[in-house]
Amino acid sequence: MAVLAITAASALIIRKAAAPKPPEFTTGHSGTRMVMGTFANITAVAEDEKTIAESIEAAYKQLVAVDEMMSDYKEDSELSVVNREAYERPVQVSEPLFDVLQTSVAYSKLSGGAFDVTIGPVVQLWRSIDKKGTRPTDEEMAAARARVGYEKLILDDEKRTVRFAEPGMLLDLGAIAKGYGIDRAIEAMQAAGAAGGLVDVGGDIRCFGISPKMTRVWRIGLDNPDGSGDIPMVLNLSDTAIATSGDYRRFVMLDDQRYSHIIDPAAGSSANGLTSVTIIASRAVEADALATAVSVLGQKKGLELVESVGNTEAVIIPGGSGLEFIKTSGADAFID
Ligand code: ADP
Ligand code: MG
Repeated sequence: MAVLAITAASALIIRKAAAPKPPEFTTGHSGTRMVMGTFANITAVAEDEKTIAESIEAAYKQLVAVDEMMSDYKEDSELSVVNREAYERPVQVSEPLFDVLQTSVAYSKLSGGAFDVTIGPVVQLWRSIDKKGTRPTDEEMAAARARVGYEKLILDDEKRTVRFAEPGMLLDLGAIAKGYGIDRAIEAMQAAGAAGGLVDVGGDIRCFGISPKMTRVWRIGLDNPDGSGDIPMVLNLSDTAIATSGDYRRFVMLDDQRYSHIIDPAAGSSANGLTSVTIIASRAVEADALATAVSVLGQKKGLELVESVGNTEAVIIPGGSGLEFIKTSGADAFID
């Protein structure tokens, strides 16, 4: 008995001595910064302060670059050039923009047109409500809607050009560029040597690697749409992205009615339905596009769509009285 005990103890000591010393990590934060018309927060975990600072700056630089390229608010963005010229001539674009447009068309097909980056003419019309304070006329709405349709977007992947089949078309990457930027930012952090990190742009988030708690799990709270500031649900994420769409954060008030900034392309008007749609997916671009698509499709068709896509879950708050959550079959695995 005694001999056995000693043997076991010495084996333990040998194993301990042979194990490499685990690296020690520290955590750094970017502080709140403005980009893409909203607030960004970046967290980096690394062995030293220099890597932390470099990872944060590399991530932020990617967000700014994507915003400058893909914003339709900026007149000199690459997207705005396409919007001005792609009916007149095929416009050659950068790889990132072409990549986003191809991804966008794929999500349009997947969602049966609920997600559509050619929604620009209708979005512009609804934005003008804000300035004029009147509802667009039926004629204006019909004219804008007629100019929408991803099948009228001509992408040539050999020449990397974009062309509009009809005049008056406008691209709007508002439902996907944020996700795309977050993915690029995460890659930049990994390349800069971070052991872990999180990029949050307006509540759309992706995380990877070691968390500040020195585990592989990042705990992310979902906001209560009532604006109370409480967190009714916590998600445990590892190397995962989430995006939330809904009418509770951005909308236009007109004659006491709320108009969502998300448009149903089939109707050409505001998609009023779900208060909040959160998508969990491996990439932020996917989560962002699907969150908008599900907001348009509504609860039933939206859940069906997410169930049909592998490794993707949804948590929907339908709205109305009380706080109800509707989830896809695998969502519970992420809920604390
Ligand atoms: P948020 O901007 O709150 O993150 P979304 O990701 O859902 O929300 O993006 C909404 C934006 O996407 C709108 O402001 C508009 O620019 C654009 N958009 C609106 N409806 C659609 C749609 N059906 N398909 C693609 N983009 C849309
Ligand atoms: Mg979106």
